[in-house]
Amino acid sequence: MTIIKRREPRDDAPVKSRFTDQKKRVATDKDLNTKWSFGKPGENFRCYICGYRFVLGDIWRWVYACHVGRINFLVCEKCDCDNVLDKWVCHTDRCKEVYWWSK
Ligand SMILES: [Zn+2]
Repeated sequence: MTIIKRREPRDDAPVKSRFTDQKKRVATDKDLNTKWSFGKPGENFRCYICGYRFVLGDIWRWVYACHVGRINFLVCEKCDCDNVLDKWVCHTDRCKEVYWWSK
């Protein structure tokens, strides 16, 4: 029988950073060529609130929203704020009202 010993992470181990950490990021070539939201590469790499399409070097952030019954979204630096989740809920509610056919 083999005993598998769990390894503790080293203090100096590089920390893998993923966009799902919800921290602000700088748009890279890779981001611009990634398939976001089932679109073509880079097509949907946009702020979900104002619609701005990110370019190289822009600040952006991925925001988790499933816990408030909404889809997760990307936000630009201008739209991002402390209550961006509330903003997103209002935005999506408004979209449902205006674009009633999209429900
Ligand atoms: Zn925006």
